Order: sequence, then C-alpha cells, then structure tokens
Amino acid sequence: MTINKTSDVGIAVKEAISKANEKLDVAEAEMIISGGRGMGSPDNFSYLYEISEVVGAAVGASRAAVDTWEDIPHSMQVGQTGKTVTPKLYIAVGISGAIQHLAGMRTSKYIVAINKDPDAPIFGVADYGVVSSWEDALPVLKKELEKLVLD
Ligand SMILES: Cc1cc2nc3c(=O)[nH]c(=O)nc-3n(C[C@H](O)[C@H](O)[C@H](O)COP(=O)(O)OP(=O)(O)OC[C@H]3O[C@@H](n4cnc5c(N)ncnc54)[C@H](O)[C@@H]3O)c2cc1C
Repeated sequence: MTINKTSDVGIAVKEAISKANEKLDVAEAEMIISGGRGMGSPDNFSYLYEISEVVGAAVGASRAAVDTWEDIPHSMQVGQTGKTVTPKLYIAVGISGAIQHLAGMRTSKYIVAINKDPDAPIFGVADYGVVSSWEDALPVLKKELEKLVLD
C-alpha cells in the first residue's frame, strides 16, 4: 500500500494512475468510481459521472451518500447492505472506509482512495492513497485517464 501525502496533488494522482496501469490496463479496465458523503452534495457526483464517461466506468456510492441525498439512488450503494463489487479498478472518493463499505469492495483488484483525512480507514485497504480533497484531485484524475484512453 502506498499513501502519498505530498502537497502536490497532481504528482500524487499521476502516480496513482501510473501504478494502477502497471497492474492492469486502465484504459481497458472494468472500473467503478464511487462517491461518499465527502462529495458534499449530490450535484458534485457530476464530476464522477464525467470521469466515468471517459473510461466507461460505473458510478457507485456509499450508504451515507445514498441515505443523505435522495438524488443518489439505492441501486448505487456498495457495501454490506448494498452491492458487492469486484472491479479491476475501484476508486473511492470522499468515502471514509467503514467496515460495511469495505465488505462490498475490498476484493477489487486495485483500489485507489482519495480522501482529505490521512487517517481515513479506506487507506487501510487502498493499494494507492491520495490524501487530498476531491476538488483538487478529480480534475487531474480526469486528465490522466483521458491521456490513457487516447494513447
Ligand atoms: C447495518 C449497517 C449496514 C451498513 N451498510 C453499508 C453499506 O452497504 N455501504 C456503506 O457504504 N455503508 C454502510 N453502512 C454505513 C457505514 O457504517 C458508514 O456510515 C458509511 O459507509 C459512511 O459513508 P461515507 O464514508 O460516505 O461517509 P462519512 O463517514 O461521512 O465519510 C466521509 C469521508 O469523506 C471525507 N471527505 C470530506 N470532505 C472531503 C473532500 N472535500 N475531499 C475528499 N474527502 C473528503 C472525510 O474525510 C470522510 O472520510 C452500514 C451501517 C450499518 C450499521
């Protein structure tokens, strides 16, 4: 597991994607990008959908996101009382990593976590952790994934 605590989020996200790409062809990978309550509002899930369109990913959510915002349907919930998923690449954004969430995604092949709290439990299962707000990290992530898909 690598947790990148650099203040240069661009470098951290680039490295996360490059390491993931070493293990699997990210441009071809079956991928899920999930948002939690840390996304702040259901409208901000649009950033996740934009990224999902770049790589043909599905968008998931934590139970807190689903319970808090009625615009985020229960069908998106990953975890003990939601769906169990095993994508090649799982990107958790603003998700703390409660045990009930981990129960549904910890067998993903490669896990990248973006969370502004360096002590968030999600980093315990992540192959690569980026300590950052999603507001800083997602634009870089989108750009890096676009490069991989276009290459
Ligand atoms: C019986 C039972 C079953 C459950 N089943 C499930 C289940 O199936 N799935 C599930 O997910 N949960 C389930 N839960 C709920 C679970 O315990 C947690 O409450 C839930 O997973 C928390 O969701 P969260 O991580 O999105 O929210 P929070 O715990 O509120 O975490 C939000 C995270 O976002 C981070 N953050 C905040 N702002 C930003 C930002 N700007 N940028 C980056 N990071 C940010 C914070 O540091 C924090 O780590 C269940 C609970 C029970 C009791």
